[in-house]
Amino acid sequence: LISIKELSPLKEYDEELNKCMMCGNCRSVCPVFQVKNEETMVARGRLRLIKALLYKEIDLSPLLIEKIYSCLSCGVCLRSCPGAVDACKIIIKTREIISKKEKIPKDIENIRDKILNFGNPFGELRKDRVFKSNINERKGVKSLFYLGCSHAYISSKVAKIIKILLEFLNYPFILLGEKEECCGEPLRRIGDIDSFKEQIRKNEDILSDLDIKEIFTSCPGCYKNLKENFSSKYKIYHISQIFYNLRNTLKFKSFPYKIIYFDGCELARYIKLFKPPREILRLIPEIILLEFDNSYEDALCCGGPLLSYNLDLAFQIAKKRVSEALEKKAEYLITSCPTCCINLRGASNKVSKSIRILEITQFLKEVILC
Ligand code: SF4
Ligand code: SF4
Repeated sequence: LISIKELSPLKEYDEELNKCMMCGNCRSVCPVFQVKNEETMVARGRLRLIKALLYKEIDLSPLLIEKIYSCLSCGVCLRSCPGAVDACKIIIKTREIISKKEKIPKDIENIRDKILNFGNPFGELRKDRVFKSNINERKGVKSLFYLGCSHAYISSKVAKIIKILLEFLNYPFILLGEKEECCGEPLRRIGDIDSFKEQIRKNEDILSDLDIKEIFTSCPGCYKNLKENFSSKYKIYHISQIFYNLRNTLKFKSFPYKIIYFDGCELARYIKLFKPPREILRLIPEIILLEFDNSYEDALCCGGPLLSYNLDLAFQIAKKRVSEALEKKAEYLITSCPTCCINLRGASNKVSKSIRILEITQFLKEVILC
C-alpha cells in the first residue's frame, strides 16, 4: 500500500485538484479521450483518480498507473479549463511518485534504461549516430547543432538534409557526434526526476568544455528543455528560427500546392513559437497555406509522446489529425518536429496516400533553389 508520506508530494496540489468543477470541457479537446472515449482517459477522470489516491480511497494499482501514463502531457486541457487546473503538471507529479515506488510500466522503464545506458531512448549505439564530431576541424565556431536523438538515429535523413542546407547557406556549426547525450526530456515526462537532473548535469559537463555562444536544435523537445533547464549563458534556437533569420538569403521556386502546418505541442503551446515556420512557408511563391481548426496554442497533439510505448493509441490519435488535414484538402502536411512527422506519416499510410508529410527542413530542401 502506498503511504501518506509517499503521497506527500501531491499534497501541494490538493487545492488545485479541488478546483476541478467536473465541467467536462477537457473532454472536447483531450486527444486521448477523442479516440478512447473513456472517462479515466481525460483530465477530469485522471484528476479524480489522483484525488482518490491522495485521499487513500484507492491504491496505486496497475490500472491506475496505465491511465496516468496514457496522458500525452500535451497541455491542451488547460486551455479549455475554466478552473485553470494544470492537469498535466499534476499527472507528472503523480508519475514522480510512481517512479519513486519503482512501478513505472515495463515498456516505459525500458526507455528510461536505454537513455541511462546508451544516451538515447532507442538503445542505439553511439558509433551509429548519423554524424561524427567535427569539433577539432571547426576551431573558433561558436554555434552548436544539437541534433537530439530522433535526428541522430531514426530520422537521420532529415539531419543530413539540415546539414546540407546550412552548409549551402554558409552557416558554420559544430557537432558533438558520439559525445552528444539525450537531453533528458523523456525522463521528465516519465517522472524520473533524479535521472532527468542527472542527464542535464551530464550535458552541461559536455557543454562546459566548449567555447560556444549558441545552441540550435531541430527537436522541439530538446529545444524546450535547453531553454527551460540549461544554463542561460547560451542563446537557444530551434532550427526554424535559424532559417527564419536567414530568410533574406533564401530563393524559392514556385510551389502552387495546398499545405497545412501542424503545430507540435512543445514548440507551439509551451514555447509559443508559431511565427518563424509559417513566415518561411509564406515566402514560397504561389503556396497555399492552410490551418487546422485547432492551431497555434490550441493545436491538438498528434499522439507522438505515446509512440514508443503505445503505438496503437499513438496511431489512432495521429489518424485523426491526418483526417483533419485531408478534410481541409491539404496536399502536404508540414511539421517542425521529428516525432510528429514519424507518427503522422505512420498513421497516414493507413488513412490515405494522397497527402505527403514532411518536416519543414525536408520541405525547404525541395523548394529552395540551390
Ligand atoms: S495533457 Fe493532453 S492527454 Fe493529458 S489529459 Fe490533458 S489533454 Fe488529455
Ligand atoms: S475542464 Fe478543468 S474544471 Fe472542467 S472537468 Fe476538465 S479539468 Fe475539471
